[in-house]
Amino acid sequence: MAKPKRAGIYVRISKDRKGEELGVQRQEKACRELCERMGWSVLKVYPENDVSASTTSKRGRPAYTEMLRDARDGFIDGIVVHSIDRLTRRISELAGFLEEQQKHGFAFATTEGEDTSTAGGRMILTIKGAVAQQETERMSERINTSLLQRREQGKPHAGGKRQFGFKEGSCFQELDQAETELVREGHRMLMDRNPKTPGDVARFWNSCGSTSPQGGAWTIQSVKRVYRSERTGGIVTYKGQDIGDSVYAAPLTREQWETVQALLDSRATPAPHGSGRRKHLYSGFLRCGNCGSALRVQWATVQGRTFRRTFCHSGQRGKDGRLGCGKVSRKYVWIEQQLNEVIAAALSAREPQRQEAPAEDFRGGIGLLEARIRTLRGRWKDGRMADEDYFDSLAHLREELRTLRARAAASVVRRSRTESDAPAVWADETVENLERRRAIVASVIDHVDVFSVGRGRRKPPETTSIRITPASG
Ligand SMILES: [Zn+2]
Repeated sequence: MAKPKRAGIYVRISKDRKGEELGVQRQEKACRELCERMGWSVLKVYPENDVSASTTSKRGRPAYTEMLRDARDGFIDGIVVHSIDRLTRRISELAGFLEEQQKHGFAFATTEGEDTSTAGGRMILTIKGAVAQQETERMSERINTSLLQRREQGKPHAGGKRQFGFKEGSCFQELDQAETELVREGHRMLMDRNPKTPGDVARFWNSCGSTSPQGGAWTIQSVKRVYRSERTGGIVTYKGQDIGDSVYAAPLTREQWETVQALLDSRATPAPHGSGRRKHLYSGFLRCGNCGSALRVQWATVQGRTFRRTFCHSGQRGKDGRLGCGKVSRKYVWIEQQLNEVIAAALSAREPQRQEAPAEDFRGGIGLLEARIRTLRGRWKDGRMADEDYFDSLAHLREELRTLRARAAASVVRRSRTESDAPAVWADETVENLERRRAIVASVIDHVDVFSVGRGRRKPPETTSIRITPASG
C-alpha cells in the first residue's frame, strides 16, 4: 500500500464517556503522533461528539459518514483512529468498513497497531471489533437486550438456588402446592393473635416431614430465609431494587410478605454484648442497692440445691465497666416473682393505646403511586419517554412506594399486637419469647435497685428490699 499523502483522523467520544472532552483531544494527539512516525500527513480531523458507536445507537454518525465519503472520493487516502472501538462497535459496520477499504484502496491504521493490508491483520481487526461489540452488550443495561426487560414484564430472574414453595426446575413459575401450603400456614402462625415464632414454624414444618431446600431439618434461620426472600411474596427485584410484581403465582401476596418483614424487623434485637443471649428476664435491669453497679444473674449450686442468684460482683468488671462492692447477693426467683406481678399489673392497667393511622389511610397513597407507575410504564413502552428519565422516575416512585408499604405493614402489625397482644406475649414464657418479654419489661421498668437482706434468713424478704424505678413516658 502506498504511503498516504492525505490522512484523515477520526475521533469520537461516546455517550458512556460523557463529559470527557479531553478524551477527544487525547485521541487526536495519539493519532497525530502515529501519523508523524509513519510519515503520513494529516489533512483533516473528523470529530464525532457524544455519539455512541454501539448497536443501541439509532442516531447516525455524520462525521463517520463524511469521512467514508471523502475516502471513497479519494479526497483522503488514509484513515487513522485511536482504536477499533472508536471507529465502530458493530461487527457488521466494521466488515463494511474493511470492504470499502479494500475496494477503494485507502490506508488504515490505529494507534494500537493493526495492519489491515494483510489478511491476518484484518482478522485481528475483526476479532477486536467482535470484542468491542461484546463489551457494548455487557455494558448495556438497556431494555431491548437485558434481563431488566424480563423483570419489567414481571418475570423473575430464573437462575439461583431452589426455593421453598416453588416446583423444582420450574424457574419459579409454578408453585409446589404442599410447600406453598406450609409457607401460608407458617405465615398464619407468625401473624396469629397469639403469635408464634420462626422457631415454632421450623418445628411445625419439621413435624410435617418437610425439609429445607438444602435437604436438612428446618431451623429458625432457614425459615427466616424463606420469609425474607422477595420471591416468596411474588416480588421481582433487579439489583436489589423492588421493580414490581411477578406475573406468576407466589406463596404469599405482596401485602402478606411485607407484613412478615415488618414482623421480622420488629423482632430483630441487637445481640447483647458479652457471651451469647441473655437467659434471664430481668438481667440488665437489676442494680446493686449498695454501690449501684449492675448485678449479675447466675446459676449456683449450694448444698446440692441449684438455684439462680443475683449478686454484685467484686472480682470482675461488669458491662458498665465498674467493679462491684460484692455486698449484695440475693435469690433471683423471688425478685423475678415480684417484678412479674408488677409488669402484669402495669399491662392490665394500661389504657388501650390510640391506634395510629389505620392501614386504609396508606392504601389511598399506595394506589396513587401504583397508578403513577403504570402511567409511566405505559409512556415508556410507547416510546414517549427516554430510558434514563423512565428509570430515574421509576426509582423515585418505587422508593416512595416501598416506604409507604413498610409503614402500612408496620401499622397492621402494631394494631394486631400492642393493646390486645402485649398480655399474650407476656404470658408466653418460652425461651424464644424472652427478648420480646424483655421489651415489655423495658416499657414498664427502667431499673431495679436490689438491697441486701443479710444471710441465713428464713423469712421471705421484705418487699422494700427492692426499689423499682419505672420507665419514663
Ligand atoms: Zn454492689
